[in-house]
Amino acid sequence: MTNPRFWHQRILAAVALMLYGNALNADPAASLMAYISENAPVLVLDHVRVIDGTGTAPAEDQRIDIADGKIVRIQSAKIKSAYLPAAKVLDLTGKTIIPGLVGMHEHLFYPTPEHPSDGLPLFGEMADSAPRLYLAGGVTTARTAGSLEPYTDLSVKKMIDSGHLPGPKLRITGPYIGDYRALLPQLHTLSSPEDAGRTVDYWAAEGVTSFKAYMSIRHDELKVAIEHVHARGLKITGHLCAVGFREAAALGIDNLEHGIVVDTEFFPDKKPDVCPASEAEKDFATRVEIDSPAVQEMIRDLVSHHVAVTSTLAVFEITVANRPSLLKQFRAQRLLAPQAWSAYLKRRAAIAEANDPLDAIELRKEMQFERAFVKAGGLLMAGCDPTSYGGVLPGYGDQRGLELLVEAGFTPVEAIKIATQNGALFLGEDAVIGSIAAGKAADMIVVAGNPALKIDDIENVETVFKDGVGYDPQKLTASVQGLVGLR
Ligand SMILES: [Zn+2]
Repeated sequence: MTNPRFWHQRILAAVALMLYGNALNADPAASLMAYISENAPVLVLDHVRVIDGTGTAPAEDQRIDIADGKIVRIQSAKIKSAYLPAAKVLDLTGKTIIPGLVGMHEHLFYPTPEHPSDGLPLFGEMADSAPRLYLAGGVTTARTAGSLEPYTDLSVKKMIDSGHLPGPKLRITGPYIGDYRALLPQLHTLSSPEDAGRTVDYWAAEGVTSFKAYMSIRHDELKVAIEHVHARGLKITGHLCAVGFREAAALGIDNLEHGIVVDTEFFPDKKPDVCPASEAEKDFATRVEIDSPAVQEMIRDLVSHHVAVTSTLAVFEITVANRPSLLKQFRAQRLLAPQAWSAYLKRRAAIAEANDPLDAIELRKEMQFERAFVKAGGLLMAGCDPTSYGGVLPGYGDQRGLELLVEAGFTPVEAIKIATQNGALFLGEDAVIGSIAAGKAADMIVVAGNPALKIDDIENVETVFKDGVGYDPQKLTASVQGLVGLR
C-alpha cells in the first residue's frame, strides 16, 4: 500500500474521475438533455418551406411527419391528413427546412493561437468545441479530412454515437498519409511506399473509415496507399502537391480537396514527386486560365475517372484582404479564446496591409473552376476546413462555404445540394442522409427566413434535428464560449 507507483495511479484515477466523471459516466439521455429543445418521438413540422437537398425548387407550405427519428412522409400542408397518434405539431410558418449539412472537409482541430517567433506550426485537438459547433451550425454528418489525434477522434465519435456527447455523425479519416516538406511535426513523414501501405492498414484496423493523402506524398507512395485503401473497400481523398490532379486520377484517387488552387500540374517547372506549393500557386494566379484547353482537359479527366472535388472556399477566402467582413466574424469572437481572437485579428490585419491582388484572383479562379467542374458533370462537395491561421470555425465555416458557393455563381438551391446530397452520395449514405424524403433519417435544419432567396439566412439556424431529436444551437455554442483555440 505504500508503493509510490500505486498511489500515483490512484491519484491519477481520482483526478480523471473528478475532471471527466460527468462526460464519461453520465446516463446518455441526461448528458444531452441540456442541449435538446425538441424530443417528441412523433413530430409534425407544419407550414414550412422545404429545400430538399436534391436541387429541385423549394416547396412552399409543406408538412413533414417524423416518427422514431425518421421522416415518415412529406406532403403539402394543405392536405389535411390525420396526424400520427400522440404527434406534437410545430407551426413553422416563415421558416425553411433544409437537410442537415454533410460536411466533407472537417477537422476536430484548430490552429493554436500563440507561439514563439521561432515556434513550430501546431494545431490543437478541439474535441470539446468542434463537435458541438458543427452540430450547432447545422452539420449533422461530418467527414474529417485528416486527423492529428486519430485515437481522440475515434473516441469522440463513439461517445457521440452512444449519446454521451452532442455532435454530428462523424466519419473519421485516419492520420495524414504524407507530410509537407517535413515542416509539420504532427505529421508522419513517409519513408517508403511500404510505409504508406502499412499506415493505411494499421489505421483501418483501428476503425477509421477514410483516408487522406497529403502534400509531399510521392507517386509510388500514393499508388500503394490507394491500393491498400481500396482493398478494404474504403475511399481516399488528397490535398496533393508533389503529385498533380491528373496523375492522381490515373492512380485511382477518389476525391481531391480544395480544388485547382492546389493543383501543381500546370506549373512549368514542376518536377516529378516534388511539391512546389507556393511557386505553383503564384503561377496559377498569374497565368493559368480556367477556360484554357489544358484545364478543361484536366476537368474532363477528373469527371471521367469519377473523382469528386471538395470545395473549401471559406478557408481560401480568409487569405484575401478584408474577407469576410469583420461584421460577419463577430459571432466567432464570442466562441474563440481571447488569444485566438487577437491572433486572428493580427494576421487578418497583416493580410489587409499586404493587399496582394493575386489572392483575390486565386479565389475567383477557384470559384470559376468549381462551376466548370460541376458543369462538366463532376461531383462537387463542400466543407469548411477550420485550419490556416484561424477564423474559420466548425459549423459557421460550413455556412460561409454555402454563401461563397452562391457568390461563385451557383443558385442557393444548387449550393445546398452540394453541401448535403452530394456528400451523402460520395459517402454511399444517400439512401439514409443528405436529402429530405420519406424513409430517411430526420437530419434537418430549421432556418429562419428563406435561404433560397437570401443565402445568408443559412446563418439563422434555429433547430438542428439529428435522427429526429432537435438541438438548440444557442445552448451548444454557449457551452463552449471562449474555448475555440483551447480545447
Ligand atoms: Zn484540411
